[in-house]
Parts: sequence; structure tokens; C-alpha cells
Amino acid sequence: MSRRTTDALRALAAEGHALAVDAQSCVSWAVATFGHRLAVSSSMSNGALAHFVAQSLPSVDVLFLDTGYHFPETIATRDDVAARLPVTVVDVRPRQTVAQQDQAYGRDAYSRDPWLCCRLRKVLPLDDALMPYEAWASGIRRGETPQRANAQYVEFDGTRGLVKINPFVEWSERDLAAYIVANDIPVNPLEYQGYPSIGCAPCTSKVAAGEDSRSGRWRGLGKDECGINI
Ligand code: SF4
Repeated sequence: MSRRTTDALRALAAEGHALAVDAQSCVSWAVATFGHRLAVSSSMSNGALAHFVAQSLPSVDVLFLDTGYHFPETIATRDDVAARLPVTVVDVRPRQTVAQQDQAYGRDAYSRDPWLCCRLRKVLPLDDALMPYEAWASGIRRGETPQRANAQYVEFDGTRGLVKINPFVEWSERDLAAYIVANDIPVNPLEYQGYPSIGCAPCTSKVAAGEDSRSGRWRGLGKDECGINI
């Protein structure tokens, strides 16, 4: 079955936006509308979103951006999610290996131009991976960054021509933590070691007490989004 047209998906996004009032209604609408043409993206900080969507769509595809720069704990969390949750984890890899990227753009591009590195290792690979789908789900929450403050349950992702759902958009950190405990969700152990937000190892540092939860991401580089959600 071919993908619906961009205009049709834009109209569906408007429909979903009008209907979704909480995490469950958001996911229920998306599953009824897209079925397995809905994918979940996960950074493997935890398996909460994968678990939540899988309750309505067992074996849902969970796209993990395997950048080649992850902490071993993140890879282990991916394996734990794949083993323990009723989902299908899909490793999404960049077009170039780290070694090929180093050769093409110079060693450790993340240290000189993290926007380029994120584009090569996260944004473009996700663009490619989402081609077969009509909608994707992200675990972003409004309270995380200023750029996420106006995120909606259902949006039209104009960059990719897809519907995007954000079921946890109104959840607080406490809501998320409670869901994780109540459902015995796999969690990246780094979350308990001073890393409340986890990305690639070279671009993630520990957060001190009282600091913003995302302050350890691209610290000192004036960047707080990888670009896949904005
Ligand atoms: S988070 Fe850092 S290492 Fe990972 S893709 Fe972005 S710039 Fe590259």
C-alpha cells in the first residue's frame, strides 16, 4: 500500500490534533489511523514510549539512531528493550561509519561542528528510516527545552511530510518516573548516575544538582537539540 499524499497526511494531523487530549487518546487515534505505519523513535534513555505505544500496537517498530557514538549502557538498554518489551527494535545507522565520516569531514566532527555531525548521524538517517511510515512518535515533553514548549499531541512534520505524535508532551518528569516504576520499564542506568538526558557519549556530560536536566547535552556549544524534533 502506497503512502498517503502529503495533503492527506496534513489533514489527518489536523484531525488528530483536534481529537487528542491526553497520551492515551493521542496513541489510540494514531494506531487506529496508521496501524503499523506508525513508528516510535527512541534514544534508549528508557523504554517508556515504546512500552506505552506497544500496549495499543504490539510489535510496533522502535527506531533507534545507532550513531556509533553511544555509551555502552545505551546499547545495553536497547538490547533490554528489545528483549523485554513487545516491540521490534530497528537500528538506524548513518550512511557513513564513524571512520568514513572522519575521513570525509575530519576527525571528531562533533567537537567542531556538532550541527553537521548530528545532521549526518541522526537527522538524515531518521529521514531515510521514516520513508516507509506515515507517522512517528517522539517522547518529547514540553518542559524539556524552550523549543519544545509549544509541542502538541499531534502535529504535521512539515520537514518530512509526515504526522508526528508526542504522547508524553504534557507529562512531567514525575509522571514519566511513575510510569516507569509502575510498569517495570527498562531504564538506561546512566539516568541514575547524573545523566538525566542521554545522547552520544562525546556530547553528553554529567549534570550537577540544580542544573537543568538537559544542560549536559552539547555543554558549552550553544546547542540543545539534535535537530530531529525541530
Ligand atoms: S550528539 Fe554529538 S556525536 Fe552524536 S550525532 Fe550529534 S554531534 Fe555527533
